[in-house]
This record gives sequence, C-alpha cells and structure tokens, in this order.
Amino acid sequence: MSNPYKLYQGTSGKKELDLRNELHRLLYGASDEISKGKIGLLRRMRADENGELIKCPCRNTITNEPSRDFFCRYCHGHGYFWDELKIVYYRDDDSFTKKEGNTEEFERDYFYFEYNVDIRTSDFIIEVRLDKEGRPYQPVEREKVFNILSADTFRSDNGRVEFWQIRAKEEQKWSVWYGVKNRQYN
Ligand SMILES: [Zn+2]
Repeated sequence: MSNPYKLYQGTSGKKELDLRNELHRLLYGASDEISKGKIGLLRRMRADENGELIKCPCRNTITNEPSRDFFCRYCHGHGYFWDELKIVYYRDDDSFTKKEGNTEEFERDYFYFEYNVDIRTSDFIIEVRLDKEGRPYQPVEREKVFNILSADTFRSDNGRVEFWQIRAKEEQKWSVWYGVKNRQYN
C-alpha cells in the first residue's frame, strides 16, 4: 500500500466518511456537536510474563472457584488480580431492540471505543457515576460491571481499523457490592 490516503479517497474521487474522526467527534464533541462519550474504566485482569492471568488467593483450593461467600476486596469476585484504566466510550442504549421484546437480546449492550484502545475479552467495562458535567464522582463510584462477550473491529474498505464494537452483558451479581446493599445474591 504505497499511498493509503489515495486508497481511502475511493475510486469515485469522493472522500469517504472518516469513521475514526466521526467517532472522535461523537465522543469528545466538536464546534457543531456536543460530546456523547462517557468516562468509565476498563478493568484488566493482570497477567504474568507468560500471559496467564494471576489468580487471587481467595480461590477455593479444591474447586478453584473464587469466593462467592464473602466479598473479596482484592479481586471483587473475579478470582484474578486486576487493574483499571480510564476509558471514554459511547454506549448504545439499545432501546429499539428492547422494545422488540426478545428476552435473549434484552441483556446485552453495545459499547463503542476508538480504534487505538487495547481491548481483551477478559477485560470488564465499569460504568462509574458521573456528575452533570460528565465528570466522575470522587472517590470513584462504580455503578455497573459489564462482562465483554465479544470485541470486534470495524474496518473500512481499505482494511483500516475504524473503531471497536464491544458486545457486553451486565454482571448482575456484582451489583450487590456496589450500592445495592440489601439485595440477596444466591
Ligand atoms: Zn479474591
């Protein structure tokens, strides 16, 4: 590919939509567009030098399951150590699909990240409480945890990655630990 820019213009000479730029405008706003991006966290399971996720000592020595009987303050029930990175994302509220009433479809959401975000399917997306200006509360209040079901890149005709589309499902069980104090979890 000697001149990617030329390819990107297409054969008609008409410039194609630059989707990287479009998503950037959507997330961060522009003179003619208000920002619709949300600040959140990407919770990344920590890995050793061989790429193996590092297990939390709360795992049962026989079943190898993370503890579900008490709230493990090290791993929060993931069973692995993790770190969190700040992200900006667009979340599709999916209202149309929900109205269609397919219960199978009901419990998943789409998130959109910029092309240069490093995503792994073992990551989790954390929604945090934001003020009216879209700034996270301090200290950070984690409101929802989403389990990533699939992470796909959307590519333009010339093969360039334009953005990430993440399909994710809210993890109900963790809501017990984040604000919903009296709810029972079995
Ligand atoms: Zn643990």
